[in-house]
Amino acid sequence: MDTIKYDVAIIGAGPAGSSAAYRLARRGYSVIVVERCKLPRYKSCSGMIIADAVQFIRDVYGLEIPTSVMCRPEVNKGMYFIDCDGKELCFTQTGCNVWRNLFDNWLTGLAQGAGAVVKDCATLIDYVSNSDGVDISISSSLGVERACARYLIDCSGATGRQRVGLSDYIYTYQIYNEGTIDCDRRYFYAFLQPELSKYDAWFNIKDSFIVIGVAVKAGAGVTKKCREYYAKFISYLKRNYSLNIMRECKVDKWVMTQVHSGCDIDYGGSRVLNAGERAGFLNPMGEGVSCALKSGICCADAIADNFDSPDDAIRQYVDSIKDIKAYMSRQWDLAGRMARTFSHMRLNNF
Ligand SMILES: Cc1cc2nc3c(=O)[nH]c(=O)nc-3n(C[C@H](O)[C@H](O)[C@H](O)COP(=O)(O)OP(=O)(O)OC[C@H]3O[C@@H](n4cnc5c(N)ncnc54)[C@H](O)[C@@H]3O)c2cc1C
Repeated sequence: MDTIKYDVAIIGAGPAGSSAAYRLARRGYSVIVVERCKLPRYKSCSGMIIADAVQFIRDVYGLEIPTSVMCRPEVNKGMYFIDCDGKELCFTQTGCNVWRNLFDNWLTGLAQGAGAVVKDCATLIDYVSNSDGVDISISSSLGVERACARYLIDCSGATGRQRVGLSDYIYTYQIYNEGTIDCDRRYFYAFLQPELSKYDAWFNIKDSFIVIGVAVKAGAGVTKKCREYYAKFISYLKRNYSLNIMRECKVDKWVMTQVHSGCDIDYGGSRVLNAGERAGFLNPMGEGVSCALKSGICCADAIADNFDSPDDAIRQYVDSIKDIKAYMSRQWDLAGRMARTFSHMRLNNF
């Protein structure tokens, strides 16, 4: 079989992979995105696209996020944090509320429109890099295919090619419920009281669903702990927000990266660069779309600007993303001040 050659191969059709593919294709490079799921693929998410990400999309694509990918209420007005002492703090900013399968598929479509090849139901199983490029093996219903590229960008997210040991994950457990709750439906609610969760607990409204979730750090008995915290959280919401559940519709379990003190980012190196959650970009309360988009674009520009010089590409990537990393570190520091559950993530160097 002939080996197919691309300038850049990208693993994962999430926001990081699709934004990187869009940028590189627009800059004239041949790009393949390899996605293991069938598109449009499901991604567990609250679907809050913060104002900063909405603006970034405007700046990069010259587009507004279409209402066809949104759920009701379409506008997200920000977050209510309930700190570890039960004090409510409101942070207002206007973003939007999307279904991630539709939103991500819209971004992937823009990358395809720009010329990127997107191959779904295909898993990158292995790669070998050398001084000229990267040889990759992709498994699909056709068997194992080989391709080569001058660069690989790993945007495989938290569940992809694992960057860390399992103990470094946060397990999320959320249930889509039908019912009623007293709240301002346009806000996301995050609860930081240690008795409600080992990390945070949250709810938000998506169409007719009240999506209620808790998160725990990895360790023995994760599922049991999730269920126990969930039950406590439901009692709390009944007492304080008049929650009334008529029907549990769907249970959703996932993982997210546990960000460490100092926000350790794994940028990759040489011809294999990492972006998005795979690299470790994730803001407090699990907001990761804004930094996935930004790191995808920074990584793409670094490669395009230094195509024949991998050392300069990685240097530019690290440098161009430093403000985003510093912002993320400050946010984690703030979260650490607000909640004991996040306090181990506070930074010593801020
Ligand atoms: C419960 C929960 C709620 C969240 N809520 C929000 C929120 O409201 N707002 C927000 O901004 N963020 C939220 N996040 C975080 C956000 O979803 C992620 O940070 C974001 O999706 C990261 O984007 P990404 O492109 O890096 O990776 P992903 O979106 O995870 O995409 C990675 C892709 O790579 C594919 N892949 C993995 N391995 C391979 C392989 N070997 N071969 C081929 N393909 C592969 C996967 O199938 C996947 O499609 C939430 C996360 C969770 C778990």
